[in-house]
Amino acid sequence: MARKKLVAANWKMNLTLEQAAEWLADVDEMLQERHADVVVFPSYVFITDLMDMYEGDLLLFGAQNCSHVESGALTGEVSAMQLASVGIDYVIIGHSERRTYFGETNEIIRQKLKVAVKHELLPVFCCGEPLEIRNQGKQQEYVLQQLRESLFDLSPAEIADVTIAYEPVWAIGTGINATPGQAQEMHSFIRGQIEERYGKQISGHIRILYGGSCKPDNAAEIFACPDVDGGLIGGASLKADDFVKIVMAAAL
Ligand code: PEP
Repeated sequence: MARKKLVAANWKMNLTLEQAAEWLADVDEMLQERHADVVVFPSYVFITDLMDMYEGDLLLFGAQNCSHVESGALTGEVSAMQLASVGIDYVIIGHSERRTYFGETNEIIRQKLKVAVKHELLPVFCCGEPLEIRNQGKQQEYVLQQLRESLFDLSPAEIADVTIAYEPVWAIGTGINATPGQAQEMHSFIRGQIEERYGKQISGHIRILYGGSCKPDNAAEIFACPDVDGGLIGGASLKADDFVKIVMAAAL
């Protein structure tokens, strides 16, 4: 069964409410039809404003993070239960910026995945190696450890609705993207590991996105790789017309 592509806009800590509303209107007008599943990840503060504002049916919404615990005295955190309670569908878990700047470990990310699936959110689990690991040729071992220590704690039923995003850290926000060959090699490796752990049905169904300096001029060749099921887009998602071009590339 062919996997439907998914293209996600990770806005990070960018855009005001006004700019985000304008983006939504522009993208909705330009997209016109569903070329792929399209998910927008705004800052927490205005996800629900945008959901209320949005009258179309082409876009889905998600949060960029959630807490690793259910509830409690964690000032400034937002729980999976709270996200689910306002109707948010998706959540990014384990983004490399969370790992680097907020010290998120594979263990914390394991807990986040558990609590997210418990509340029926759809996690986008990020993995990927830093440059020094790629330079040593140890990227597969590194990513496998991320999978084993975080993702593989999920049961077959729990992992079924997870999307994986392979995001080599050296490609995020640097303007240097992985080549289609590098992306395909890692995506096929990840799918093979999923197959070993969960079997062919789940590995054939799970979507693996590429993230890392994906732009209108390189999206089509990356998305054409057999194991690449779309993209998690950072910088190039901030401009509505660039993002729409990337979504269209997923439909080629
Ligand atoms: C990201 O942050 O997930 C990302 C892929 O960023 P960029 O597209 O800017 O490299």
